[in-house]
Amino acid sequence: MLVNKYSLKEIYQGRLETGDDLLEELNEFVEGKEIEAGKISAIGAVQKATISYYDQETKEYNKKSFEQSLEIVNLTGHISLKDGVPILHAHIILADEEGNTYGGHLEEGTKVFASEIEVQELDNADKLRKYDECTGLTLW
Ligand code: ZN
Repeated sequence: MLVNKYSLKEIYQGRLETGDDLLEELNEFVEGKEIEAGKISAIGAVQKATISYYDQETKEYNKKSFEQSLEIVNLTGHISLKDGVPILHAHIILADEEGNTYGGHLEEGTKVFASEIEVQELDNADKLRKYDECTGLTLW
């Protein structure tokens, strides 16, 4: 296990607006605040969603879309630098009216109904993503 220790710089809390694209809006916030490292969490509900699943054999993301309203049970995302640019990597768990859950890598095309978010910005972090040959992913 590879672990580093950081301290917290700022905590932001807020809400997104109905119709926002969840991933785009979070990325715009991260870019606007020039956050280079941190963590995002959110709860709420979406009008529709697109998530993906990373196929470990083909090393490709397979997308799946839901054209229905769903609860955001949880969203967890990490902000770090990839090639000098802040990247948000977020996963989401969604629930339907029966309580069935679906989860995966958050993709653009997920439209917010309502969402409360929290962004934790880390201080003096040097979290850089590097390509990992074994998994085909860019990891810390
Ligand atoms: Zn992912």
